Amino acid sequence: MNVNQSAPPVPPYGQPQPVYPGYHQSSYGGQPGSTAPPNTYGAYNGPVPGYQQTPPPGVSRAPPSSGVPPTSTAQVPCGQGGYGQFGQGDVQNGPSSTVQMQRLPGSQPFGSAPLAPVVSQPTVLQPYGPPPTSAQVTAQLAGMQISGSVIQAPPPSGLGYGPPTSLASASGSFPNSGLYGSCSQGQAPPLSQAQGHSGAQPPQRSAPQQASSFTTQASGGPRMPSMTGPLLPGQSFGGPPLNQPNHVSSPPSQALHPGTQMAGPPGPPPPMHSSQQQGYQLQQNGSFGPTRGPQPNYGSPYPGAPAFGSQPGPPQPLPPKRLDPDAIPSPIQVIEDDRNNRGSEPFVTGVRGQVPPLVTTNFLVKDQGNASPRYIRCTSYNIPCTSDMAKQAQVPLAAVIKPLARLPPEEASPYVVDHGESGPLRCNRCKAYMCPFMQFVEGGRRFQCCFCSCINDVPPQYFQHLDHTGKRVDAYDRPELSLGSYEFLATVDYCKNNKFPSPPAFIFMIDVSYNAIRSGLVRLLCEELKSLLDFLPREGGAEESAIRVGFVTYNKVLHFYNVKSSLAQPQMMVVSDVADMFVPLLDGFLVNVNESRAVIISLLDQIPEMFADTRETETVFAPVIQAGMEALKAAECAGKLFIFHTSLPIAEAPGKLKNRDDRKLINTDKEKTLFQPQTGTYQALAKECVAQGCCVDLFLFPNQYVDVATLSVVPQLTGGSVYKYACFQVENDQERFMSDLRRDVEKVIGFDAVMRVRTSTGIRAVDFFGAFYMSNTTDVELAGLDGEKTVTVEFKHDDRLNEESGALLQCALLYTSCAGQRRLRIHNLALNCCTQLADLYRNCETDTLINYMAKFAYRGVLSSPVKTVRDTLITQCAQILACYRKNCASPSSAGQLILPECMKLLPVYLNCVLKSDVLQPGAEVTTDDRAYVRQLVTSMDVAETNVFFYPRLLPLTKSPIESTTEPPAIRASEERLSNGDIYLLENGLNLFIWVGAGVQQGVVQSLFSVSSFSQITSGLSILPVLDNPLSKKVRGLIDSLRAQRSRYMKLIVVKQEDKLEMLFKHFLVEDKSLSGGASYVDFLCHMHKEIRQLLS
Ligand SMILES: [Zn+2]
Repeated sequence: MNVNQSAPPVPPYGQPQPVYPGYHQSSYGGQPGSTAPPNTYGAYNGPVPGYQQTPPPGVSRAPPSSGVPPTSTAQVPCGQGGYGQFGQGDVQNGPSSTVQMQRLPGSQPFGSAPLAPVVSQPTVLQPYGPPPTSAQVTAQLAGMQISGSVIQAPPPSGLGYGPPTSLASASGSFPNSGLYGSCSQGQAPPLSQAQGHSGAQPPQRSAPQQASSFTTQASGGPRMPSMTGPLLPGQSFGGPPLNQPNHVSSPPSQALHPGTQMAGPPGPPPPMHSSQQQGYQLQQNGSFGPTRGPQPNYGSPYPGAPAFGSQPGPPQPLPPKRLDPDAIPSPIQVIEDDRNNRGSEPFVTGVRGQVPPLVTTNFLVKDQGNASPRYIRCTSYNIPCTSDMAKQAQVPLAAVIKPLARLPPEEASPYVVDHGESGPLRCNRCKAYMCPFMQFVEGGRRFQCCFCSCINDVPPQYFQHLDHTGKRVDAYDRPELSLGSYEFLATVDYCKNNKFPSPPAFIFMIDVSYNAIRSGLVRLLCEELKSLLDFLPREGGAEESAIRVGFVTYNKVLHFYNVKSSLAQPQMMVVSDVADMFVPLLDGFLVNVNESRAVIISLLDQIPEMFADTRETETVFAPVIQAGMEALKAAECAGKLFIFHTSLPIAEAPGKLKNRDDRKLINTDKEKTLFQPQTGTYQALAKECVAQGCCVDLFLFPNQYVDVATLSVVPQLTGGSVYKYACFQVENDQERFMSDLRRDVEKVIGFDAVMRVRTSTGIRAVDFFGAFYMSNTTDVELAGLDGEKTVTVEFKHDDRLNEESGALLQCALLYTSCAGQRRLRIHNLALNCCTQLADLYRNCETDTLINYMAKFAYRGVLSSPVKTVRDTLITQCAQILACYRKNCASPSSAGQLILPECMKLLPVYLNCVLKSDVLQPGAEVTTDDRAYVRQLVTSMDVAETNVFFYPRLLPLTKSPIESTTEPPAIRASEERLSNGDIYLLENGLNLFIWVGAGVQQGVVQSLFSVSSFSQITSGLSILPVLDNPLSKKVRGLIDSLRAQRSRYMKLIVVKQEDKLEMLFKHFLVEDKSLSGGASYVDFLCHMHKEIRQLLS
């Protein structure tokens, strides 16, 4: 019953199969086959008007042999032929950001007395020609000084990337100790999840003088063009609008990069390398200032450079100071540029290897043969042909796949294809599913598999003639021949035990121990469930949900409830033998909500009363999961357990846990044990759950350590979710909990799923990250999968790839819909392959790269010391950038840090990962917080990791009050805040409003309904509802941000200079963090040093 099965008991097609009447989808128009006229796909032809048309000129749907041009230049959308004249060489390396760092003689303390300006060369060198996004940018971190005595860059730990030490000592100095994790001191709002801030102890440095040896000077020149935005007059390249900034090449470069040879296979550095070395030596010897004057390699060939002097922007700081943060790549600017350049046009998926717009850009997708980026995003859309190249570049080749992603209303859900009893058509050898890349031959009687090249017969009922181009004449009538994503109805062969599944069930399992009752949780939950049960997920236009429900309460023992519709009152059955869990009733446990409504309501009314006086504080946990799973097994269905749990399960039972929290383990080799489960019980239980299609969602309400690392094992392995509400109090946390619960109950979910990613010859999926279980090396098993869960898959070469045929991915997800229908969802994606490293670097997506790297690191902490994990990330990043520098960048001084355009944010984002709570915890981050965040990130999609690691900071009072658009974000740094304004910060889990001490009284009044700053309640979590434009606007913005995120973000109002401000500052990720995390500027310097070391 998995997608991997190579030999189903009965071949999926070609032999008579019992007809399953329920599978004829009326909306879809009947059975395709030799007798089915093409126009039976009525619904299908409808919503996609362009569908019957031939693809637009220049947009190739790219069947494998249809002549996708062999070079990447040819794949640039129509009208860009002009770029073709530039070979694979230098110019194609094109866009790159150059950040120049220079070494000056003499060690200078950080931020110390100004140095004489060193450079006379322009800081910004304007690449001629292409629009800003394509700009080859030189941001010169002019005059950044590195101790002349240090020739070899110091080890990473020198800069504060190393582990923070002395955490214990830090805690005392932190004013809000206890705020974050433990409730015992909790007068302030608990911030249970996510990133807390860190302790106050500055990072210990093994080599403090190294950190201080970085001194910077005012950059003497104008700003980086691509970071300041507007297209300059005369810069237009004259070509058509470029949708793909990453593809844009530079115009003739001969004058620019003499001798640069990027086209050649990666190998020893070209001669220029040695000259670089020389130049570098010179710098160290102190002759650096004068000789570096106008950059010979950069200055002169950029005629546009002077124009930048007139760029808007802050005035050039005249007195030398530390490295100008405005001169280093800005996430805000990159996001803004992408929105401006790519947000207006739909992203059409017909072209192979196209890099989609960023996740932060709003865009529509038109499926013309490749899966939407909402389903699959890749770290690179151009894969090196050989493993040697891939190893050299060190760019992870990974896809972030969200198979059941929700789409915006403007985009159609995948069409459902019903091939009747023959089932979906597959390749006989590799079992890939029919897709647009399969090549029909022999007049349509056979097809060649695009994954394994096997020639297969076309079953008679699927036969169709080919047109003169070799395309089937019905290609555009069949989703599986023309779309990147679609679904097949599965036959009984794809079902467990060769039996179509029953509709799934939801079981609500409520902790009724003392803590749960006292906090008001049980009463709140029971009240809410009464209405929530009307919102169980439904499929299509179904009148009512097919999902049945059941109820269990527990503390040390379990209580099952019979809520059969014929009963006048619910009946309770107690199971106290938790060591050998069984389900005491079958009939009446899982019921239809509408039929049993009266009994269910009665039960939900009675539960809070029944346990109101409980003194029982102990709970069990594993037996609860066991009971739910056994109940589903007995009912022969898949389903989901909603477990509401409050405490460490210390009652005598399987899965009993002890408190093993030990902060002293931080930064030791044993730190990993904090992330590992303390017993194997839960893994074994999870395995049973997966086999049953039992997904577990866990809602935690801890007042102290509950061992999230162990309790979250089953949710993690069954595709479930974990929510954590530390120190839950109804009045403070009701809204958040109710909102999360509602969303969780209502969301569409697939059950009993198996996902398999097939690839064309040359690469294969080798590693997987996410919330799932794997019992072999290829099949991702998911007891449940919702529209938010994401699986990241890494690929490795096992053979040489071919530039002409490219590389194909096919993700097949077999699952049971919430109506109980067995389906296969297929996503296809074609990527380009390259023999030039430059093509790889031009087609990367940093957000996706960070998603992969974060997950890789967060898994690494289970088995390696955290410091090792951090160092690995830094090294990999340095190798990626050094490889670019060596093979793709134009010759220039080694004093320059040159970043690929597509990766210019890699350092800043990677630094955010490195200093996140999992990898570098502050003193106030609890072990449970870290385990919680770790597992959350594991199944995040690219948009979620993006904002999680680099939070969004929005000024609320800067833009005109009447403006209806979201205020433009600013960089996450304290120096961007002005004390006369109010800001909002969010990262997908947390939401802050920061109020400057100098905010006008009128503004304070409008927003908080108090007359002065001092009267604002610090830690406020709800803004008063006031009838004025500012109040409405801010509350509207908060609502809209909450709606964009998958979890409810609780608001915390923070005042400048207030102690809670420390909490807020933790999220200003460009700044140095209290836990020892480097500032962006420092990290960039450090990265540069690492790169230079690799190059030397
Ligand atoms: Zn095949």
